[in-house]
Amino acid sequence: MKIYNKQMKILIVDDSPSNIRVLSETLGQEYHVIYAMNGPDALASAVNGNPDLILLDIMMPGMDGYEVCTKLKANSNTSEIPIIFITALDAEQHETVGLELGGIDYITKPINPNLVRLRVRNHIELKVLQDHYKNLSTIDGLTGIANRRRFNDFIEQEWRRSMRSQSVLSLIMIDIDNFKQYNDHYGHSVGDDCLKMIAVSMFGALERATDLLARYGGEEFVCVLPGTDIEGAKILGEKLRSKVVAMKIPHCKTTTGLDYVTISMGISTVVPTKNDDWNSILELADNNLYRAKSQGRNCLAC
Ligand code: GH3
Ligand code: MG
Ligand code: MG
Repeated sequence: MKIYNKQMKILIVDDSPSNIRVLSETLGQEYHVIYAMNGPDALASAVNGNPDLILLDIMMPGMDGYEVCTKLKANSNTSEIPIIFITALDAEQHETVGLELGGIDYITKPINPNLVRLRVRNHIELKVLQDHYKNLSTIDGLTGIANRRRFNDFIEQEWRRSMRSQSVLSLIMIDIDNFKQYNDHYGHSVGDDCLKMIAVSMFGALERATDLLARYGGEEFVCVLPGTDIEGAKILGEKLRSKVVAMKIPHCKTTTGLDYVTISMGISTVVPTKNDDWNSILELADNNLYRAKSQGRNCLAC
């Protein structure tokens, strides 16, 4: 694993141009550096720039570093970004307050470039590991696509976003047909390979960066399509179905009349309201999936 690289982004917040210059020169070789010269700009850069680490000056006119830190910690989009405070050398009480507010470390002025480089390197290494484990905990180990936990977080967030903008949200529940018979006949490890192939193939069918495909559990998958209406969801569902059919994975024990693996799907589309939560869209899709199964499988119902 590459521990640090140009991809890691550092936001430097300081009202003094000379401090910004020294810090940029110190860190610019190794990292992508962005900067802000006051509190409000720092908050905007943290949200829009999504930095991996923030170096935050405490003494700034208007909104000081403490207030910036408190606001960053209160916003779920920025609360996990590590913050290193920049304090004046003789202000020990600043360091205590800064650490209590959730800062992870502090550096003192006047800036000692070598010390800054080493401290930042340590924290960036930790951030890389933290990102790595966070990633692992949201990915399904067998198929490599998003897992159930990631789905839960995603649907929650998209449900709220769609409610705010009063836009449509579609969901497709996908279930492999007669998969019990497949496992019984070909064995569990061939079953696992089949799950992987189907996941990868369906993942390849998604075109929008905002769509999510997750393994819901067992041989069930779920696709979340923000801003997609029922017609769009049906087109994608049909694309998924035909991609799986086109793989022609042999299945001699299926009840569909074909002799290869197929999927059935239930689609639901809603504009979220306050009276419901996201379980309602899931239940609707699940009921429709049940209908697709009873209509003979290898089809979608909505
Ligand atoms: P239907 O068409 O109605 O969906 O029938 P089905 O046989 O697919 O459904 P059922 O829920 O009865 O069986 C699901 C089977 O999926 C049970 C198990 O054999 C298999 N399965 C679930 N998870 C895994 C997995 O991680 N690996 C493998 N190989 N098989 C799994
Ligand atoms: Mg099932
Ligand atoms: Mg099934």
